[in-house]
Amino acid sequence: MYYDSMKQLIRLAGRQKKCIGDIVLAVEAEQEDESPSTIRGQMVISWEVMKLALERGITEDIRSVSGLSGGDAKLLFSREPKFLSSEVSNAVARALGVAEVNASMGRIVACPTAGSCGIVPAALLLAKEKLELDEAAIIKALFTAAGIGIVCSLNASISGAEGGCQAECGVAAAMAAGALTELAGGSPTMVGHAVALTLSNMLGLVCDPVAGLVEVPCVLRNGGALMQALLGADLALTGIKSRIPVDEVIGAMREVGEALPESLRETSLGGLANTPTGVRLRRKLA
Ligand code: SF4
Repeated sequence: MYYDSMKQLIRLAGRQKKCIGDIVLAVEAEQEDESPSTIRGQMVISWEVMKLALERGITEDIRSVSGLSGGDAKLLFSREPKFLSSEVSNAVARALGVAEVNASMGRIVACPTAGSCGIVPAALLLAKEKLELDEAAIIKALFTAAGIGIVCSLNASISGAEGGCQAECGVAAAMAAGALTELAGGSPTMVGHAVALTLSNMLGLVCDPVAGLVEVPCVLRNGGALMQALLGADLALTGIKSRIPVDEVIGAMREVGEALPESLRETSLGGLANTPTGVRLRRKLA
């Protein structure tokens, strides 16, 4: 078994009457020449690390060495939101928290990258609590997310230096949206639409870390990307379809990434990094 596009992944799932997470697990086991239970066991370890980071982010007083990030997640988690529901606001806080743990050199799971590490875990914890799911369902959903990330990396990029932040936070949002859709009972085709709709809303997002540190805007961008993932999943689950097929959206992300100037691909020479304040902070920290 093999897949290198969302179309193939969706077709495999349809033919075998399995969910995408099961297909990704089976392919991984085949490719690694390991048993599915060994591969699943590795994912369980990743989820345990994610859960610890989710907890740390909203409970501990986290500060990065630079002082550019830390404390926002705990603050947001402690307040009643004005416009978001409490559960969504808490999920955003958790996404920020994991990103703050990363910025303070704590242990996280790159998902798909360290800069975008809060989106998938926060989305899955929200789904676990809201849909009252067990751990096995979350582990399976992590394989769904992984499969989406693999397809994006094969056909576009998951690197801010190559494709801008659309390739990091954008792909993480797409991974989360697909996993959420599957967890909520959506079909493999719906998963594809969730990925396409979410990624469409993230196209063009530049990579512009202030002072070259994965803190500003990275930490808060995890929250914004999570919101896009929730929207993408809900749209797909409602039956709304992406007019552009998912693999073409991924192709568009590659094209947009290639068109981005170098200044907006992790060099810290453009965007927020090149604002007067961004430059001042870079000089101060240097
Ligand atoms: S802005 Fe760049 S470094 Fe920060 S999360 Fe996005 S891609 Fe990663």
